[in-house]
Amino acid sequence: HLGNETIKAELGRASWMLLHTILARYPEKPTSEEREALSAYIYLFSRVYPCGECAAHFQKLLKQFPPQTSSRIAASQWGCHVHNKVNARLGKEIFDCNEIAERYQCGCEDAEQSDKS
Ligand code: FAD
Repeated sequence: HLGNETIKAELGRASWMLLHTILARYPEKPTSEEREALSAYIYLFSRVYPCGECAAHFQKLLKQFPPQTSSRIAASQWGCHVHNKVNARLGKEIFDCNEIAERYQCGCEDAEQSDKS
């Protein structure tokens, strides 16, 4: 059904946008609490994601590629990598992971770099 596919795609775009933006703003030097929070968030996200087929595939991907939480770069590159795995499965273009930092901004203050707006 075309209508449902359109809705599923819209949900996907919104979800990837939020996930990549969270990862792009994740601390460069996270504390162990921050690392646990990100890891828990990603695993819980994979359980509550409302497209069941998508959630099941994503849970398998997480087993193969566990979330990387050691730094902002590790986390955001991991996010790009798993999204590219989904892209490949759906026959979509592969995204250049060097563009992550520029592409995903939050319009908010960076706690570690107060000179940026
Ligand atoms: P999207 O893949 O939504 O990407 C949005 C934008 O993000 C792109 O236009 C591009 O600018 C950028 N982008 C693309 N690749 C990357 C990357 N690697 N890193 C950073 N940015 C990137 N749909 C299904 O039909 N079946 C599924 O099993 C399925 N599983 C999903 C699992 C998850 C966890 C999520 C969040 C979504 C899933 N989707 C699934 C939805 C699917 O991934 C797309 O979001 C949807 O098809 C819309 O695709 P799109 O071409 O608009 O671009």
